[in-house]
Amino acid sequence: MEKLIITAAITGSRITRDIAPYIPYTPEEITRSCIECWNAGAAIVHIHVRDPKTGLGTQNYDLFQQVVTPLREKTDLILCLTTSGIAGLNLPIEDRLISLELEPELASLDAGSINLGGGVFINPPEFLDAAAKRMKEKGVKPEIEIFDSGMIITALRMRDEGKLDEPLHFQFVLGTPWGAPATPKSLLFLHEHIPQNATWSVIGIGRGHLPMSMMGLIMGGHIRVGMEDNIYYRRGELAKTNAQFVERIVRIAREYDRDIASPKEARAILGLKER
Ligand code: ZN
Repeated sequence: MEKLIITAAITGSRITRDIAPYIPYTPEEITRSCIECWNAGAAIVHIHVRDPKTGLGTQNYDLFQQVVTPLREKTDLILCLTTSGIAGLNLPIEDRLISLELEPELASLDAGSINLGGGVFINPPEFLDAAAKRMKEKGVKPEIEIFDSGMIITALRMRDEGKLDEPLHFQFVLGTPWGAPATPKSLLFLHEHIPQNATWSVIGIGRGHLPMSMMGLIMGGHIRVGMEDNIYYRRGELAKTNAQFVERIVRIAREYDRDIASPKEARAILGLKER
C-alpha cells in the first residue's frame, strides 16, 4: 500500500479558547505546533491564522507570512494554506485568496456551499473559478474539500472545463452537522465518485475523527488530524497538542504495517514539484 500522508490541521478559524484552551492562536504558537507535528510524522500542515484581538480566523497576509517564513526555514513540511477565511462569515474573494500570494504547495478549495453553524459557508461558482485560476497562476495544487457528494460533481465539471488539472487531490470532510456523515458507508460512497488517478485524504469531525482515520488507513487513503477538526483526544479529554493526534496515527499505522510518508515522499505521491 502507498505510504500514508498525515496532515495536521493546526487551528482552523472557528474554535476559540473558551472551549479549547490549548488551541494555538499566535503565529509563534501555530509555528511551534506545526514543527511538533512535523517531528511526530506529519508531512503536511494545514494552516489558518487567527486575529489576535478576536481569536477568530483572518486572512491577514502578514500573519500568514509570520508562520510560513519560519516553517520554510526550519522544516521541509508541505504547507497547505486555507482559502476559506472564516467559514460562514464569507469574506470577499480577494481576501480569501490572499494566502495564495505566499505560493504554498497546496491550498484548500471548498468545492461548494454548505450550511455551517447558524449561517451558510458560501462558495459560489464565481469564487471557485477565481480560486482555481489563481492557484494555477501561482503553481498551487488545490486540495479539493468535499463536504457532500455534489461537490465532487462540481470538481469533476471544473476538471472537464480545464479549470482543475489532474491528478486531482480530494479531502473528504465528514461529520459536520450539515454535510455527509462520518460513517464508512458515506466515505465508500464518496470514494466511488472520484477518478481512479486521484489521491484522497479524510477528515472525521469531532467523534468521527478516529473512525474516519482508520478508514483512510485501511482503504489506502491519507489522513488529516488536528484541533481544527477535533479538540478531544478521547471522550472527555481535551487534546493538549496537535502532535498527540499525529503520534497516535503513526503508532497505529506502524502496527498495521503501513509506512508513513516523509514530506519528500508525500510530494511524489501528490505530484508536487520539488522546490
Ligand atoms: Zn481549514
